[in-house]
Amino acid sequence: MTKGTTTLAKFIIEEQRRAPGATGEFSALLQDVVTALKGIALMVGKGAGDGGKYGDENGGDYGCEDGGKAGAVAVQGERQRKLYLAANEFLLRSCEWGGHLSAMASEELVEVYLIPECYPRGKYLLAFDPLDGSSNIDVNISVGTIFSVLRRPDGAGTASAADFLQPGVRQICAGYAIYGPSTMVVLTFGRGVHGFTLDRELGELVLTHRDLRIPEATSEFAVNATDERFWEPPVKRYVSECLAGRTGPRESDFSMRWIASLVPEVHRILIRGGLFMYPRDTKEPARAGTLRLLYEANPMALIVEQAGGAASTGHGRILELEPTELHERIPVVLGSRKEVERIARYHEEHERGIDRPYRSPLFGTRSLFTDP
Ligand code: MN
Ligand code: MN
Repeated sequence: MTKGTTTLAKFIIEEQRRAPGATGEFSALLQDVVTALKGIALMVGKGAGDGGKYGDENGGDYGCEDGGKAGAVAVQGERQRKLYLAANEFLLRSCEWGGHLSAMASEELVEVYLIPECYPRGKYLLAFDPLDGSSNIDVNISVGTIFSVLRRPDGAGTASAADFLQPGVRQICAGYAIYGPSTMVVLTFGRGVHGFTLDRELGELVLTHRDLRIPEATSEFAVNATDERFWEPPVKRYVSECLAGRTGPRESDFSMRWIASLVPEVHRILIRGGLFMYPRDTKEPARAGTLRLLYEANPMALIVEQAGGAASTGHGRILELEPTELHERIPVVLGSRKEVERIARYHEEHERGIDRPYRSPLFGTRSLFTDP
């Protein structure tokens, strides 16, 4: 480690010194989260050669006797693999003992996980998606972990799911780890977004990307194009205009990206700009969206906004939504500010009925990959 290297541990302590009245409790919690992320990075990096070693749901020797088992049931039909459960265990075991948390919420747990009584309980709440990118493990594409820290609202007694139902603007920290060719942790405390790269020899996360900024404009967008026939008109309009390229209304050529995983999509946007959409569609009309508000959309929205981008449902700012349930899904449009604002405007114009060409029945018959 050369002189002047900033490790994540050092960075967290320096941030803490800057916050008046900070007790150090939050820094200690974050260290526990980071320990879990490093463990998951190691586990994911072993790939198929691991031989299932990390599939032990008992979480090895960690945890007290009643810890970790309650509610460990798959939710929402996402493919459950040993790796996801192991990643979930890493986070629970690494963060439950420190005395900083009251409860945790995970994509892999139906109910909130209350800190077992053998440990002290603290004032924070942690929500996470332990292993984002379910379709990518087998094909060796980047996966990630997403997390969000909230303060427990005032109130005595036991924490509950209701404590987590706070708008995203109240997050005091949000971050993700990306397990790619290199492992990075990107996070914000509400004062910019900073990226740390895992130095495998040191075993330390080192500050490599201070103050990441998303360019305002972009010519890249990412959307699952095979859902086109289910999209709502404002989204159809936006994508068809991008595809029309230089000779269309945008007078510019665009290119499309699609990794189908939130973490690497957001990471690309942070590094070089772009737009990512998982809009509402009519495939399952009862479902408001695909991504989960509390541990996917909110933490990513805070990161994107802190980097100068924007995050919207199409109808409003994600961070201002009042959550109604732990595993709530919402539509997500995020990335370069100008493009997000344009899509929000298209939604508004559609509601006011002033997007006439895009209301014609013919519009819906145009295919993404053929000329109108
Ligand atoms: Mn996910
Ligand atoms: Mn997941």
